[in-house]
Amino acid sequence: TIGMLCMDQNGDIAGACTTSGLSYKMKGRVGDSPIIGAGLFIDNEIGGAAATGMGEEIMKNVGSFLIVELMRQGKSPQEACEEALHRITSKNKNIENFQVAYIAINKAGETGSYCIHPGFARMEYKNSINSRIESAAHLK
Ligand code: ASP
Repeated sequence: TIGMLCMDQNGDIAGACTTSGLSYKMKGRVGDSPIIGAGLFIDNEIGGAAATGMGEEIMKNVGSFLIVELMRQGKSPQEACEEALHRITSKNKNIENFQVAYIAINKAGETGSYCIHPGFARMEYKNSINSRIESAAHLK
């Protein structure tokens, strides 16, 4: 998936995403990217967010919409991305088996990003799920 968020000189926000879907996907599977609110969501009064990774997890949490709503409630793009990812990791015991990443921007032009990346995490930390998640933040 490629997700893109941008802001023009007037402060208007736009975004796009494209995907080839998941490797070895079942015929007919629809991932998160074409689902507004899951793979991409923009409210030009608040900000925008885009996702990549395991679409089923992103869709279950309506991740991009969630991030924009968290920003509406006052969270920074970074805090919102982290909260949206924690919603996924807190409900999953198998985060080693998939990855999810979010990017976000708000009306002030501030950006955020957060991801779980098992390969990187395993190299750096071996102790707890939380430390692996925190380590992945350094990928941004
Ligand atoms: N999000 C995509 C999907 O689940 C996969 C990807 O990001 O590569 O279809």
